[in-house]
Amino acid sequence: MSDLENVSLKLEALGYRVTPSRRAVIAAVLQQSDHFSVDDVLHRCRGAGRATVFRTIRLLTDLGVVCRLLLADGSLHYRVSQRGHHHHLVCTACGTVRDLDQCAISDLMRELSDAYGYEIEGHWLELYGRCSACRSAVAAEAR
Ligand SMILES: [Zn+2]
Ligand SMILES: [Zn+2]
Ligand SMILES: [Zn+2]
Repeated sequence: MSDLENVSLKLEALGYRVTPSRRAVIAAVLQQSDHFSVDDVLHRCRGAGRATVFRTIRLLTDLGVVCRLLLADGSLHYRVSQRGHHHHLVCTACGTVRDLDQCAISDLMRELSDAYGYEIEGHWLELYGRCSACRSAVAAEAR
């Protein structure tokens, strides 16, 4: 079964209708090899309106097919990822994004929950900096 079929079946199982334009959005999303914006998907499927693209990507995020990624310039991107809750290391020089497997702040969340009496339901954590390739390129230039 293709990823497209897989995702469509999952959505239908949750009671969502997979319309042709929604299907086109899902196909366009699954074709992205790197992170992408809503506009990137919009340009790839001309038949679908902005609202459909937004809603479908949001559904895919809820479904755990796509993760959200906040870039250093404040723009929101997405990436195909089925690894569940995770965080990102973002290189601000070349734009490379690496996934971090573990959640580094689960202890902190427990402490904050106790200290403030909050039931914490979610969080984002992106780390920005320069990757090792970019750092060695800068070091080589300085020589
Ligand atoms: Zn991710
Ligand atoms: Zn880099
Ligand atoms: Zn986390």
